[in-house]
Amino acid sequence: MLSGKVLSGKVAVVTASTQGIGLAIARRLAQDGAQVMISSRKQASVDKALEQLRAEGLGVVGTVCHVGKREDREALVSETLRRHGAIDILVSNAAANPFAGRTLDCPEEAWDKIFEINVKGAFLLTKLVAPHMERQGGGSIVLVGSAAGYQPFPAIGPYSVSKTALLGLTKVLANELAPANIRVNCLAPGVIKTKFSSALWSDDSMRQRFEETIAMRRIGEPEECAGTVSFLCSQDAAYITGETIVVAGGLHCRL
Ligand code: NAP
Repeated sequence: MLSGKVLSGKVAVVTASTQGIGLAIARRLAQDGAQVMISSRKQASVDKALEQLRAEGLGVVGTVCHVGKREDREALVSETLRRHGAIDILVSNAAANPFAGRTLDCPEEAWDKIFEINVKGAFLLTKLVAPHMERQGGGSIVLVGSAAGYQPFPAIGPYSVSKTALLGLTKVLANELAPANIRVNCLAPGVIKTKFSSALWSDDSMRQRFEETIAMRRIGEPEECAGTVSFLCSQDAAYITGETIVVAGGLHCRL
């Protein structure tokens, strides 16, 4: 036993983890004892996040990974294996949303980009990581979806559909990977205060309108998503797979 922390001895890979929800998840997994590999598209973002987390006394490493690039995905996995010799946890957190408006006005290129990053990226990363987890005797995967996957957010229909696809991907992968002792679950945040969602909260009247649809009457903080992911990756969730946990302050969201 390395220490009493819930994720001691575990190696975690978190994509899109240099700010926002991904950074909060990486920080929490490290605080809970995991050795964490952070990543995102830009070296400068990786360096800044590493500096921040190391200043907090957390043992993290990092590398560049644009989840839409095959060579980056492969490098993320091989670099983690080189540094730590295993991968026990994958948090697939990256997403793109290059379009807002009526769904039928979405250009084909924007539609493709949304599905390439949000859905195919999660699928391909899982495909890369699962064989290593299987060889190690198991693992835990968390896909970051969205409450928008249940109840489409206004003006971001294609993005919402991509997040609905992740609910299905979670179920399919959970069934297929269960015999290998790999659990697959999904986190569905509501509106969380990050750069990604700034259009929803930076304008006061827009924010107030949104907050009226939330039972708790406020938008969430990235840190409020992180404990759920740590729980899903921990032994306490040993009998939980194929589930999506909504962290949305009571926002109505059910299919
Ligand atoms: P954010 O604060 O804007 O952070 C985005 C992060 O993703 C950055 O670290 C960015 O770094 C990285 N990134 C962007 N594109 C990437 C790519 N193609 N490959 C790898 N990394 C990439 O975003 P966030 O709000 O935390 O969103 C994280 C996840 O939560 C997404 O899946 C999003 O759909 C989901 N979500 C967010 C909300 C919300 O209200 N914020 C609600 C529901 C779900 P670089 O620029 O260096 O790449």
